[in-house]
Parts: sequence; structure tokens; C-alpha cells
Amino acid sequence: MATAHVIGAGLAGLNTALRLAQKGAAVRLYEGSTHAGGRCRSYHDPQLDRLVDNGNHLVFAGNHAAQRYLRDIGAADRMIDPGEAAYPFFDAATGERWTMRLNAGRLPFWMFASSRRIPGTSAADYLVLLRFRGAAATDRITDVVKEGHPLFHRLIEPFAVAVLNTAAEEAAARLLWPVIVESFGQGGAACRPLIARVGLSDSFVEPALARLAQLGVMPAYGHRLRSLKLEQSRIAALDFANGRVELAPGDLVVLAVPHRMAAELIPGLKAPAESRAIVNGHFRLPTPVSGPDGLSFLAIVNGTAQWLFFRGDVVTATVSAADVLADSDAEDVARRLWNDVARAINHPEEPMPPWRVVKEKNATFAQTPAQVALRSPTKTAFTNLFLAGDWTDTGLPATIEGTLRSGELAASLALAELGQGNVPIHRASSDRH
Ligand SMILES: Cc1cc2nc3c(=O)[nH]c(=O)nc-3n(C[C@H](O)[C@H](O)[C@H](O)COP(=O)(O)OP(=O)(O)OC[C@H]3O[C@@H](n4cnc5c(N)ncnc54)[C@H](O)[C@@H]3O)c2cc1C
Repeated sequence: MATAHVIGAGLAGLNTALRLAQKGAAVRLYEGSTHAGGRCRSYHDPQLDRLVDNGNHLVFAGNHAAQRYLRDIGAADRMIDPGEAAYPFFDAATGERWTMRLNAGRLPFWMFASSRRIPGTSAADYLVLLRFRGAAATDRITDVVKEGHPLFHRLIEPFAVAVLNTAAEEAAARLLWPVIVESFGQGGAACRPLIARVGLSDSFVEPALARLAQLGVMPAYGHRLRSLKLEQSRIAALDFANGRVELAPGDLVVLAVPHRMAAELIPGLKAPAESRAIVNGHFRLPTPVSGPDGLSFLAIVNGTAQWLFFRGDVVTATVSAADVLADSDAEDVARRLWNDVARAINHPEEPMPPWRVVKEKNATFAQTPAQVALRSPTKTAFTNLFLAGDWTDTGLPATIEGTLRSGELAASLALAELGQGNVPIHRASSDRH
């Protein structure tokens, strides 16, 4: 039986392997590091003596691929679902607090209730979201919504920077439209924010590994792919740091590595070259703390910190599009973030509690119009090589949802190549298990 060789055990590789194995394909999964999860994982931090995530991750309830993945790995109950789309905000410049509270249905009644809206805005202001539908490929967020718009600093910018990990002045406006359609466009129920209950690995990685093990797929860790042996129009062998794997006729490869690594491995590949950083600051407080109304997060505008996530006695502050901050001294970063956190949660500023700053310098590719134009399709010039990952051309931003869809698409095309049919893979009834 021909084998699908999946390289990279981040969420793209895990989902590709899962979808292939569910359909009965023979799968081998290789991972260069010692663990799965890639940019979406948890680990024990000795400084805080706590399990922490590499960074705060939020998905929307309306993210279909995320829901399918969580359901199929048996982890749907491992996300905190607040039951409504309530987004608490703190304005670090003015000290104002409010909660944007969407109604569940598709008709946005919430926009007509001032108590549910962002202060200083009218219902008509929210129509600005529709402008993204007509965004040109070259438009940036600020070409579509000007800084002076009442929603710019309090909704458009925080939303765009969180989703695109790129400053609004340079981020590709067109990428935001599918997110608006699948969140606001579906009503408040689809906008419910879901956050990993215990940690990212507990929700997204460990259950996937357990499901893969049931299907007979065990990742081969420490297998760092150094090069692909190319023979005319196909891949003939995989050269890992620890040995070569010759491919049998009919075998295929799904490369689920980040954009820069893919460009290194495939000569002449069209791929984004630039990245943007995300910085997270974890603080261990003397007692457990939660956000307003018991919610597990809080958005901050006009500060350094952008989102706070609360888990037990650890509060984590995230900054996206954080390249300048990522080059700063870690203690300075911690101090700046803690100033915002302390004010947001009404905690004394001194002393600063135990902290850990995590800088992910290559958190995602830079989602500017020029870099978005460099995304690659799933199919390559090689007949038995497919691509997956958040940087591939999914039409969606580089998020968990886009990543998981890239894995579904790669698996679907790989199954067709393996002769096992291009069956829509989310039909669980036809699954092997
Ligand atoms: C701090 C941070 C916060 C984020 N917040 C959010 C959020 O709130 N919501 C959201 O939806 N998304 C968020 N994201 C984005 C999301 O995490 C990524 O889009 C997603 O995890 C990318 O998965 P991937 O599988 O494409 O890539 P990766 O996770 O990078 O996986 C690639 C895997 O390939 C392995 N690999 C690399 N090179 C080789 C090689 N040569 N040989 C073998 N293996 C190799 C790597 O070790 C890795 O395990 C965030 C990302 C970061 C970093």
C-alpha cells in the first residue's frame, strides 16, 4: 500500500495525518523536534512552576474546521465556551471599561442597544465591517477604514491585529472579509470565543496524538527533514538529519512545515519571506484571578498589552505584530505589560509578580498584501508533493482555522492521488472508526 509521509507535527500536520488515517491511508508522521504542536503548544515553565502556553490562542465557535477537529479528536469539551459572545474591554488610556455583547442570532439586534455596543459608537458605525467585502488585493486595513472612524481603535484595529498579526497600516484588508463572514456574518453564536481549558496541548495536541495512535500513527520525533531528493517531477526520497527514507512508487509527501522551512526545502517555491512576532508575558499572581463577569479573557486597547487570558493564578498578556517589543529587553517588556495588567485587574503595581516573557519572533508570516500574494497552493510542481500550513493559500489568515483547513485540503488531494477518492473528509459517517 502506498504511504503518505507527513512532515511536521504542528496542527497542519496533525490534521493532515488524522484525515488521511481516518480514511484508511497508510501514514507516517515525522517531526523535527521532540514534541508535537509546533506554534500551538503548552509546556511546564520552571520559573513560574506552572503549565503555560507558548501564547494565548482564541478560536471562534463558528470556526468549522476547528470544531470538526476538536470533535473528531474527542476534545470538544476541552474548550471554555462562555455561552455567549461577550467581549470585555479595558481602555488603558482612559480607564474606561465596557463589554461588547452580541445577541446569538444572525440579525444583529445588539447593535441597536447602547449597553451592548462600544461606548461612543452608533449602530450605523458597525456597517463599516461591510466595506471589507470590496477590499482590493492591494488594500491595507487603513485603506478600508480610516484611523478617525469611531470603531477604528476600539474594534477594527484590535480585531485585525489579533487575527492578522500585522499592524493595521500594513495588513491585507482582504483577508479579514472571510473572517467577518464566518463570525459576525453568522451572528453572535458563531462569535463565541473559545479558549483552551487547561492548555493548548491538552485541547489541540494530546487528544490528536491519542486519536492518531488509535489509527496506528505514531509521530517519529527527532526527524528533521534536511532535503528532498527530487527526481524529474516527483519526490524520490526524504533526507532526514538521522537518515534517508526512500519513497516507494505511489508514495507521496505532505510538507506541513512553516513558510521559511518550506522555501528552504523546495527550490524555487513561491512562499512568503517575512514574519511578524507575537510576545506573551505570563505573570503568576498570589491568588487565582478571572476576568470581568468570570470570563477568561479581557481585551485591552490603547496600551501595550492587547489581550489578557486568565487561567488559575496565571494571567497572560499578548501583543501581536510585536516586532519592536520582541527586540526589547525581557524585563522591560515584562514591566510594560505588567503596568497594563495591574491596572486592568485592579492589582497593586508593586511588586511585579514572578513573570516569564515568551517571544515568538516568527509567530506567523507577515500578512501584508505583498506577502499574501506569495502564498502557495496545496499542489506543487511535483506530482507527489503537497503543502499544508497556515502560510499556504487557504484564503484565510494564518490562524488555527486556516491551518486546520489547509490540512483538510492537503489530505483530500493526497487521498485522490493515492486513489482513495476525494471524499469530503468531514463526513464522519464514512470514517473508518
Ligand atoms: C504566540 C502565538 C499566538 C497565536 N494566537 C493565535 C490565536 O489566538 N488564534 C489562532 O487561530 N491562531 C493563533 N496563532 C497561530 C497558530 O498558532 C498557527 O497558525 C498554527 O499553530 C500553525 O500551525 P502549522 O502546523 O501550520 O505550523 P507549526 O505549528 O509551525 O508546525 C510546523 C511543525 O513542523 C516542524 N518542522 C519544522 N521544520 C521541520 C523539518 N525540517 N523537519 C521536520 N519537522 C519540521 C516544527 O517543529 C513544527 O512542529 C498564534 C501563533 C502564535 C505563535
